[in-house]
Amino acid sequence: MRPGQSSQPYKLTTTWRRKEAYTFPSVTHPSVLLVAGLDPSGGAGLLADARVVDRHGLHAVGVATALTEQDSTGCASMHPVAPELVAKQLARLVEDFEVRAIKVGMLGTGALAQAVAHALRRVVDAGVPIVVDPVLRASRGASLFEGTPQELAPVLALATVITPNLDELAALTGHDVATADEMRAAARLLKARGPRAVLAKGGHLDGDPVDVLVDDDGALSLPGARVEGPTPHGTGCGLSADLACRLALGAPLREAVTAAKAHLRDRIAAARAVGRGRPFLG
Ligand code: PLP
Repeated sequence: MRPGQSSQPYKLTTTWRRKEAYTFPSVTHPSVLLVAGLDPSGGAGLLADARVVDRHGLHAVGVATALTEQDSTGCASMHPVAPELVAKQLARLVEDFEVRAIKVGMLGTGALAQAVAHALRRVVDAGVPIVVDPVLRASRGASLFEGTPQELAPVLALATVITPNLDELAALTGHDVATADEMRAAARLLKARGPRAVLAKGGHLDGDPVDVLVDDDGALSLPGARVEGPTPHGTGCGLSADLACRLALGAPLREAVTAAKAHLRDRIAAARAVGRGRPFLG
């Protein structure tokens, strides 16, 4: 111990208290709220989503629903965060920040899905758009949702738009989905469960991919051209985060979807090898 030091130099304060004398400034900069898993590689989940939000000139606030053990070659395991902590942190963020849109990605467990739906209901009822990517498993590796797909229901019902891929459409509806017609039928079934719209992603269809958007105005086919080369890690996260940002900035849904799809294609074409496994979006 050096001179002047006591045996107990610091008293750690574990609770944060608001200083009553301080006047808080009014908020001038809008935020996008991310609710997703932490992929330490930065290819998917919170870190990747935050980059997207930043590119739109918005501020990213984010709550981790789970830690994952992951690198560019795949995902080995998933470790959910306590639902009470996620709910408390969400309450703090929506109270403090000017949240203009929400993106929900992997939720990990049914209990987390319930806690997140409960914590976000008031903001969503107030008109904040919410994009939900119903993540169930990593393309390479671990399951990212413990429990039955039906346990995602409370969050799906809140959504402005949900963005399932073929496997997620099949898991959520219980039907095989392998064609554009089957995608449309499955998307209609899911829309009847509460989301305002369903963007069914056909990236895994044989041949050129077609996405199908089902909203209040009907069904819209959105054909795309496949980019040659290995599929980058985190394409689903990239699309849903970008879509949330466009909605945050006021774009109507169909316009936001078309622009987000085009932007994702450019990012796939510009993919880069940052690790030794799959490339990441450019
Ligand atoms: N890890 C996290 C935290 C994710 O949120 C996701 C997808 O949403 C993935 C991994 C899976 O990404 P991919 O299917 O591209 O491997």
